[in-house]
Amino acid sequence: MPFTNLQNELNERTAQGLLRQRRVLQSPQGVRITVDGERYLSFCSNDYLGLAAHPQLIAALQQGATQYGAGAGASHLVSGHSLAHHQLEQALANFVGKPAALLFSTGYLANLGAVQALVGRGDTVFADKLNHASLNDAALLSRAQLKRYRHNDIAHLTQLLEQAGSGRKLIITDAVFSMDGDLAPLPQLLALCEQYDAWLLVDDAHGFGVLGTQGRGTLSHFSLSAPRIIYMATLGKAAGVAGAFVAAEQVVIDTLVQSARSYIYTTASPPALSVALLTSLHLLQQESWRREQLQKLIAQLQGGLQGLPWKPMSSSTPIQPLLVGDNEAALALSTTLRAHGLWVPAIRPPTVPQGSARLRISLSAAHTEQDVQQLITALHALAR
Ligand SMILES: *Cc1c(COP(=O)(O)O)cnc(C)c1O
Repeated sequence: MPFTNLQNELNERTAQGLLRQRRVLQSPQGVRITVDGERYLSFCSNDYLGLAAHPQLIAALQQGATQYGAGAGASHLVSGHSLAHHQLEQALANFVGKPAALLFSTGYLANLGAVQALVGRGDTVFADKLNHASLNDAALLSRAQLKRYRHNDIAHLTQLLEQAGSGRKLIITDAVFSMDGDLAPLPQLLALCEQYDAWLLVDDAHGFGVLGTQGRGTLSHFSLSAPRIIYMATLGKAAGVAGAFVAAEQVVIDTLVQSARSYIYTTASPPALSVALLTSLHLLQQESWRREQLQKLIAQLQGGLQGLPWKPMSSSTPIQPLLVGDNEAALALSTTLRAHGLWVPAIRPPTVPQGSARLRISLSAAHTEQDVQQLITALHALAR
């Protein structure tokens, strides 16, 4: 058998309670979903504003397909860059307060492309230890030296900056950490960048649409604006569609167009997605009740999680993790909740550090207070 050792590795994973499995979703994404034939109340999507199945986005997608067809048919630099992509880039740059923006097919590709285009051999990338996997992979792909600093530890980062060589310096960080829900200290990071002449790449996958004025993101939340900040956000989470963008000074965007390989050597995303995203941008700005509803639910959940044997992690965002510790225990908790009709994922290593398995509760503006209360009641019942 050519693959015996692969099977052994899978068996080993299973024995450790680490085997990942996919479930088949049969409904649109939302707070009430059908999975493998069963109905659930879900606390596990990144659809924070409840836009993924919004009728206006569906209509825009249909209209975009009528206008532009199903596929882009070519890469952006050949003939796939459509008017819809172009208009969306301008709208995004404007929305986040940067001179220019560049659209990527996914956030994973945006991070790979941006880091690889901006730094290389002889340069240094400084990365928070809890950054998203795509930022880690981007740094490795770039061939720059990678220095990882302890989570949000400014003193440790300062020490590493002191020791850095003479090449370019790029600090990369999640703005909202995807498995913890806490924020990066962006004002302090920017101050360090000014001091050491470094650039700051901020990945706002979980802040865009959720934080800041009208959902303009984590830079807006901190009232931060500086040319040396390179802003990246994804469009498949709060924005409810798919894709990602990098917004920055014109010279940075021009450089990405020339050198970001994950931008150049891939087919442009279907233009209809950009049409839908233009509608999504309008909804973000117009429907501020969605962010207000989220804030109410976050406060309600935090109150309700008091007094449980599992520790709520400190977070002011819709990502509200409940620390369990043991892999099997986290998995068992998630499985029992599921038997009660509640879908809350257990997140285990290597996605999070060893010994910090957790339930990742994520809230959506589409949840009601009764939905959140149902989860709180179930958790307290299980704790007894
Ligand atoms: C989801 C996510 C990405 C990847 O974005 P996709 O569009 O899903 O590829 C990148 N960074 C962070 C922090 C994320 O949470």
